[in-house]
Formats: sequence, C-alpha cells, structure tokens
Amino acid sequence: MGNPRKTWKRPVPGRAADMSDRPDLDSLPPGDGAEQTSARVVAALAWFPADEFALAVARWPWLKDRWGANTYEEYSRALQGHLLSFAAFDMKPWLAPIRVKAYMDWCAQRELDPAAQKNRAAYAAELARRGEIIPWPPGRNDPCWCGSGRKYKRCCATAPSAPLNDETEPNEGSG
Ligand SMILES: [Zn+2]
Repeated sequence: MGNPRKTWKRPVPGRAADMSDRPDLDSLPPGDGAEQTSARVVAALAWFPADEFALAVARWPWLKDRWGANTYEEYSRALQGHLLSFAAFDMKPWLAPIRVKAYMDWCAQRELDPAAQKNRAAYAAELARRGEIIPWPPGRNDPCWCGSGRKYKRCCATAPSAPLNDETEPNEGSG
C-alpha cells in the first residue's frame, strides 16, 4: 500500500508547503472552499493546528460540541474522518492551517464574523490561493499531519470515516 518514496513535508510556519502537485486552486470562490475541476473536486478544509486549537476553543467554546471533541487529539481524529469522507466521494481535500490571530485580523479587515463557519471556509480558500495549504494524506510511514510525531498509520489513519458536524453555527444569519 502506498508509495514508499512519497515524502511528507511537515508544514513550516509562515512558509508554503511543497506545492509540486498543487492543483489549480486559483478559481476557488470565497465562502465555498470546493470547486469542480476538470479532474476532481478539490477542497481546502479549515484546520486549527495543535497550538491553535486551544485558542480557538477558548474563543468559541461551542466548537467542541460541534466537533464532538474535547481535546486536540479528538479533534484531529474527527477531522481525519471528515477528510476521509471527502476522499470517499473522489474529492481531494487539502488542509488549510488556521492561525487564530491572523484569521481574526483577516475577518476584522473585512468586517466578517470570525465565528461563522462560512468565514472559516472563506479563509481556508484564501490560504489555498496563497499556497498556504498542505496535502493530505501523508504516506503511511510518514509523520502524521496532526503533528503528534507518530507515524500516520499509527495515528490519525486509524480514525473511521465520518463527516464532521461543522455546517451550522449558533449565530448563523448574524452576518
Ligand atoms: Zn495524527
């Protein structure tokens, strides 16, 4: 299973990941995050990395209920299930790492509600346009995308496929 020569580059803060097989994401519309291409649908999914997860749930505590996750590990497993459910429909999901402060600033400049899922999706699409997204999945023997330091096959790869319940917001309609 898998290509043993395939390399997984860990994301470097502030720098774009290796985009050698980057799909054409320039046409991603804001607020959507997915676009039909000639080959398959690509999607940049908003993801709070480990060091940002605590900041995100401190600011928006209801996200833990929404995601069914109290810890970063539970969150990353749930997100993995979400990614798998995308892949099951022949979509190519990418991870768009969200830094809470940069995201808050981005929303403030545009007078957007940072709590709204649609604005997280819009920001994920913006990160995709900038090339600040990382490919998924890693090779089975490569470090897991979640940053645990474990091999992917011993970490999030064991999560069952299930869509993440992140479609509605308690304050939907306010923006
Ligand atoms: Zn993991």
